Amino acid sequence: MRRFFAACMALASGFTVASAAAATLAITHVNVIDATGSPPQPDMTVIVQDGRIVDLGKSAAVRAPADAVLVDGAGKYLIPGLWDMHVHTVFGDWLPRNEKIVLPLFVANGITGVRDMGSDLDVTKVWRSEIAAGTLLGPRMVIAGPMLDGPIPRFPSSAPVADAAQGRAVVDDLKARGVDFIKIQSLVPRDGYFAAADEAKKQGLVFVGHVPDAVRASEASNAGQKSIEHFTGIFEGCSTIEDQLIKGPKSLGVNVKTFDPARARALIALMAKNQTWQVPTLVWERGQWLVDDIDKSHDPLIKYAPPAWKDRTWPMFVKDIMKDMDTDPLPVRKRFVQMELQMTLAMFRAGVPFLAGTDTAAGVHVFPGFSLHEELGLFVRAGLTPMQALQTATINPAKFFGTLADEGTVARGKRADLVLLDANPLDDIANTKRIRAVVLAGRYFDRAALDRMLQGVEVAAAQPDPPARAATTMSP
Ligand SMILES: [Zn+2]
Repeated sequence: MRRFFAACMALASGFTVASAAAATLAITHVNVIDATGSPPQPDMTVIVQDGRIVDLGKSAAVRAPADAVLVDGAGKYLIPGLWDMHVHTVFGDWLPRNEKIVLPLFVANGITGVRDMGSDLDVTKVWRSEIAAGTLLGPRMVIAGPMLDGPIPRFPSSAPVADAAQGRAVVDDLKARGVDFIKIQSLVPRDGYFAAADEAKKQGLVFVGHVPDAVRASEASNAGQKSIEHFTGIFEGCSTIEDQLIKGPKSLGVNVKTFDPARARALIALMAKNQTWQVPTLVWERGQWLVDDIDKSHDPLIKYAPPAWKDRTWPMFVKDIMKDMDTDPLPVRKRFVQMELQMTLAMFRAGVPFLAGTDTAAGVHVFPGFSLHEELGLFVRAGLTPMQALQTATINPAKFFGTLADEGTVARGKRADLVLLDANPLDDIANTKRIRAVVLAGRYFDRAALDRMLQGVEVAAAQPDPPARAATTMSP
C-alpha cells in the first residue's frame, strides 16, 4: 500500500514514476470485457501483480491477497488497454519533444501502447526504454524513427530515398540504429520502394505505411507491406484510370468520379487474401478533407495543445492542405469521406483486418488519446459493432505484432494494461471515454490521478515552447 502511494506521489510531482514495483491490486465484482468477442463476464475479480494479471475469475472463487489494494469494480467494465496504431510523438520542429504533453495525454485516455509511425529516433528510443523500465510515464512505444520519403521529403523526421541503392542503405542504417519497423511515405520512387521492401524483408523488419504515389496498392500488398495507412492507393486502385493516376496528379474528385465497383471488389479480395492490415485513420481523414468545414474555434481540448502545435504547426498544415484543395469542392470531399466509411465496412466484411490509428498529434486538432476514442466511434459509424471497433485497438494490435500470448485481451498471465469504465462500451462505443481508472503496466491510476495528469498537461501547455530545433531529416 505504501509503495503504491509513493508511486502516485511521484507521478503527481513530475511525470516520472517510481521504479519500485507497485503493490498487488485486486479489482473486484467487475464486468470483464476481454475483447475476444465474448459477452461481458459479470462479477469477476482480477488480480494484478508485478505488471501482470496473475489471476482472474468469479469473485466468489478468487480471493484477493491480504495486502492487496482493493478496487470495487461493481457496475463497472474492465477492457484491455487501448493502442493507437498511428501516432507521431516527436516530429522535428512540427512536434518538438514534449514528454509533459503527449505521453500523459495518452495514458489519461487509457492508451497503454502506441505505434509511432515517424518521429525523431534519438528521442523516441530514449522514451521507449525509459517507459519500458518504468522511469517515464507513457504508453509502451513501438517505433519507426525517420520515415522513408522521396529525395525531398514533405515532413520532418524523414529519410530521403532517391533510388534503389538509397532505399536499401536507409533500411540497413535504421536497422542498425534500433528501429522496430520501417515506415514508407508517399514520395518514395518505385525502384526505391521495392528495394527498401526487399531489404526490410532480408533484415527481418516489417514495413508499413503509405502506398507511395508511384506504386499500386495491389503491388504494395503483394510486396508484403503489412499495413496500409489512410487508404493510400486504395481508391486509385478502384479507379478506371489507375495507370494514369500512378503516373500523374491524383485528386479526390477523380477518385469519386472514376470509382469502379468491380475493381473495388477485386482489390478488396486481394487485401483479404494477403491479410494486408488497414489503418484508415478516419478521424484525420475527416479532419483533413473537411478542414475548412469543421469549426474548431471552440475546441475544449485546445487547453492541452502547446504553442508549437496550435500557433505554428497546425495553421501551417491547414494552409498546406488548402492549397491543393481548390480543385475539389466541399460536397465532393464530403462524398469521398463517406466512401471511406463504406470502404471500411466492405473490406471488414471481406475479412480484411483493421487497426485503430489517428495520426495524432501531427493531424490538426487530433489530440493524443482523445482522438482514439473518436476513431472507435467512426468505426461504429462505418458499420462495425462496438465489439469489433474495440478490437481494432486491443486484440487486433496484439495479433498484428504477434504478441497475443502476452497482451491484447484480459486473461491470466497477460500484461496488466487495462481500462476501467463507468459504463458498458458494447452498449455505446462512446462509453470508452467514461474512464474510471487506468492500469498501466500494473500501476493503478484512479480518476483523481488521471485528472491530476490532465491538469499537469494543461500547465505544461501554457508554458512557452522549448527553443525550436532543426527538423530531423536523416542524411543517408
Ligand atoms: Zn502519419
